[in-house]
Amino acid sequence: MFQPKFQNLAGKIVVITGGAGVLCSTLAKYIALQQTKIAILDLDEKAAKEVARGINAEGGNAIGIKADVLNRESLIEARHTLKKTFGPCDILINGAGGNHPKGTTTKTHLFPEDIGNDKELTTFFNLDAEGIQFVFNLNFIGTLLPTQIFAEDMIGKEGCCILNISSMNAYRPLTKIPAYSGAKAAVSNFTQWLAVHFAPVGIRVNALAPGFFLTEQNRTLLTQENGDLTPRGETILQHTPMNRFGEPEDLVGTTLWLVSDQSKFVTGVTIPIDGGFSAYSGV
Ligand code: NAD
Repeated sequence: MFQPKFQNLAGKIVVITGGAGVLCSTLAKYIALQQTKIAILDLDEKAAKEVARGINAEGGNAIGIKADVLNRESLIEARHTLKKTFGPCDILINGAGGNHPKGTTTKTHLFPEDIGNDKELTTFFNLDAEGIQFVFNLNFIGTLLPTQIFAEDMIGKEGCCILNISSMNAYRPLTKIPAYSGAKAAVSNFTQWLAVHFAPVGIRVNALAPGFFLTEQNRTLLTQENGDLTPRGETILQHTPMNRFGEPEDLVGTTLWLVSDQSKFVTGVTIPIDGGFSAYSGV
């Protein structure tokens, strides 16, 4: 009888991009506990090696590798290092991503008096195309390129899969951040496309859509110095039925499920992990 278990992860070779970041370093730690061999890829080499060192100190098997998800040569180099150290990749987690202030408007709505106030405000009309491009590249191309490099080694092997990181704003755009919203919508869409494309070669492709997680990057957007919520932080919690921000650990169970044989007939899905945010209409 088939008995699904996480133990099928033991010995698997996992690559996680953006692995030195807040969410993915936590995922890396828990994936390593499943007796996997995990490569922490990040633009920040020192931080990647630090995460790997922490995992190894706890008895895990990790390596930190410098890699730029937007640079093919850098990814090929990382793949070479991975193969020399652990072997070819079985599981790829595309975690590198994020927003940029240049892809962000100052205000939620546009009012007639905002027009022409280019010095103080970023409106839709003076959004910087390069800022938008940066965000699209980091989130979308930064998911596509590592997949091109690492998924090639998955062909012909069993139990290989890809996990992308989308976001709440892929379902409905969040105010002020059109670039990040559009780029994550592209990641969700690509997840479905790739799941269909890769089905005959047995590579499953799924994604997480985290809701609002209080991390160093957004702490000042969501909370004030005294720990009280900002108006944006309050609005988020009012729209989160579970009435709290996510903790990185909240992503672990769904991640282990999606990369293990527990979900072996699941492909092309993006799972919201959001305390009910995406289910709530606000009334
Ligand atoms: P983070 O900023 O803590 O981590 C991102 C990591 O990616 C950093 O270590 C950074 O050095 C690395 N990175 C950046 N550019 C890179 C590049 N070109 N090549 C390789 N590495 C690069 O971010 P996080 O909050 O942990 O987010 C992780 C993922 O989850 C991202 O895709 C993000 O968009 C997504 N996400 C986060 C939240 C949230 O609330 N924090 C919500 C939804 C989705």
